[in-house]
Amino acid sequence: MKHSGFPFLGAVWCGGVVTLTWAGIFLGSNAVSAPPNIVFLFSDDHALRTLSAYGSGLNQTPQIDRIALEGAIFTRSYCANSICCPSRATILTGKHSHKNGVLQNGSRWDGDQFVFPRALSAAGYKTALFGKWHLRGWPTDEFDDWQVLEGAGGQGHYYNPQFRCSDGRSLQVEGYSADVITDASIQWMDRQSQNEQPFLLMCQFKAPHIHRIPPPRHMNMFDGKQLAEPETLFDTYKGRSSYAKKCWMRLSGMAEHVLNITPLAGNYSIDEHPYEFLARMTEEQRALFHRAYDPENERYRRLVSQGEFKGKAIDRYKYQRFIKDYLACVAAIDDNVGRILNWLDEHELAENTLVVYSSDQGFFTGEHGWNDKRWMYEQSLAMPLLMRWPAVIKPGTRISQMVQNIDYAPTLLDVAGLAIPDDVQGRSLLPLLRDQASRTWRKDIYYHYYMDKAYNLPRFEGVRTERYKLISYYKPHQEWELFDLEEDPDELQSVYQEPSYRSVRERLKVQLAELRREYDVPQNEDTSIKGGRR
Ligand code: CA
Repeated sequence: MKHSGFPFLGAVWCGGVVTLTWAGIFLGSNAVSAPPNIVFLFSDDHALRTLSAYGSGLNQTPQIDRIALEGAIFTRSYCANSICCPSRATILTGKHSHKNGVLQNGSRWDGDQFVFPRALSAAGYKTALFGKWHLRGWPTDEFDDWQVLEGAGGQGHYYNPQFRCSDGRSLQVEGYSADVITDASIQWMDRQSQNEQPFLLMCQFKAPHIHRIPPPRHMNMFDGKQLAEPETLFDTYKGRSSYAKKCWMRLSGMAEHVLNITPLAGNYSIDEHPYEFLARMTEEQRALFHRAYDPENERYRRLVSQGEFKGKAIDRYKYQRFIKDYLACVAAIDDNVGRILNWLDEHELAENTLVVYSSDQGFFTGEHGWNDKRWMYEQSLAMPLLMRWPAVIKPGTRISQMVQNIDYAPTLLDVAGLAIPDDVQGRSLLPLLRDQASRTWRKDIYYHYYMDKAYNLPRFEGVRTERYKLISYYKPHQEWELFDLEEDPDELQSVYQEPSYRSVRERLKVQLAELRREYDVPQNEDTSIKGGRR
C-alpha cells in the first residue's frame, strides 16, 4: 500500500482542518503526506511489572518492548475506572464512565454514541476490531468489520474460541485465542494492503485475564524457577481504610482449578464442573495440558497430604502457580505482537503506522496479597501505554506527564487529522509524542469506581497528582485515604489524619471538587460528594 498518492482521502481531507493539522504535525520534521495506519494492540489485565519495558526484571517481553524502544513509553498512564467494560467504553468514547454510560461490568453499551472508530471510518479509514469486545450488546456499526469473542459472559475462551462476526456468522476457530485473534487480524491487514485506504486495526487479546491458560508452547516456561514475590504479598492492611482488609481479592483464596491445579489425566470426567475448560480442548490439546501440568499437580497433592502447606506456605505456593501462568499468557501476547510488527516490516508499512500497546487496566500480581484490579492503588490504576510511529516519534522517547484512557480517542482522531468533538473529555497526546509538551498539561487525574459490592468493595472516587493521591470512599460509608507517593510508593500508610499533611489534604479536596466540575460528574445519590465531606 502506498499512501503518497492517496486519491480517496484527498477529497475527504482537503478541508481546512486536516490541512492545518497535518501541516502542524509535520512542520519541520519528516514530511509525511498521508494519515497513518493505526494498529491498536490491547490486552486484558496486563500489569506493568510484567512488561519488561517497564523494567521490573520479572520476565521478558522483547516484542512489546520494541514498541517502546523504537517509539515512546508513557510512565504515568492511568485508567479512569479500573475495570474491564468501563475502560473499553472510555477508550472508544474519550469520556469518563458517567458520560458514556458504562459505569460497571454489565452496564448496557450505547453503540449509537460517538466512538472514534466510526469517525475514522466516515473519514475514509477502513476499520476493524478482532478479539475481546466485552461490552454488553454486540458491536453494530462501530467498526466496518468485527469478529469478537463470545461465550463465558463475553470473556471468550482461551482454547478453540467462539466468535461473533459482523456478517452475522458465529464461528469456532481451533487454536489458542491470542494466536487465532492475530491470524484474523493479519488476514484482514493482508486484504487492506491491496487498497489505498489507511486502516485502523484493533487487535484485542483475552490474555492474561483469569482463568489463565497458556498455550502449550509456554506451559513449562518457568518450571523449576522460583519467581520473586512482591514485598507487600503479606500485607496486613493497617494504615488504610477499613475496606482494604475486607475485600475478596486474596491470592490465597484462588480456587485450585483457576491455578490449573486439576486431577491427573483420566482421574476425572470432563463433563464435570469445574473442568469445562478442559472439555473445550481437543484431545491433543488436553494431552499437552496434562503432560505439562500433571507432574506439578501430583507434587502439589503430595505436599498437601504431607501437611507441608502450613502458615504462609500455601500463599507462597499459590503465588508461584498464579504468576507463572500469568507470565506464560503474557509471553503468548508478546509472540503475537511480534507477528504484527513483523507483518508491518514485511509490507514496508512500519514507518507511517502508529502502533499502540495498552491494556484495559493494570492488575495486582500479588501486591497487597491480591489478584485483581478495581482499587485506585497504583498497580490497578496504571495502564501500560507504548506507542511507535517512526515518522513522528523519536525512538526511546519517555513521557512522564499524566495521561489517562480518556485521551486515547482524541489522540487517534488527531493523528488521523480529524477534529476532536467538544464533548470528548480527554486530550490528544500528539504534542507529548512530538516532545512538544504544553506547559498547560494537566496536573491531576480524576478516578471513579462504581461497582461496589463486587469483591466486597465500596464505591469511591479520587484525585491523583504527581506526588499525592486522595481517595474518598463514600458508599456504604465515608472514609478517606491520602498517600504521599514519594514517601510511600507502596501506599501502605494513609496520612489523611496527619496534621503535617493538612494543607495538602485540603488542597486535594479542592482539586477533586474542581475535577468533578470539569468532567461534569452528576450530583446524584450514587456519585455525589455527600454533605459535610468538605
Ligand atoms: Ca480487564
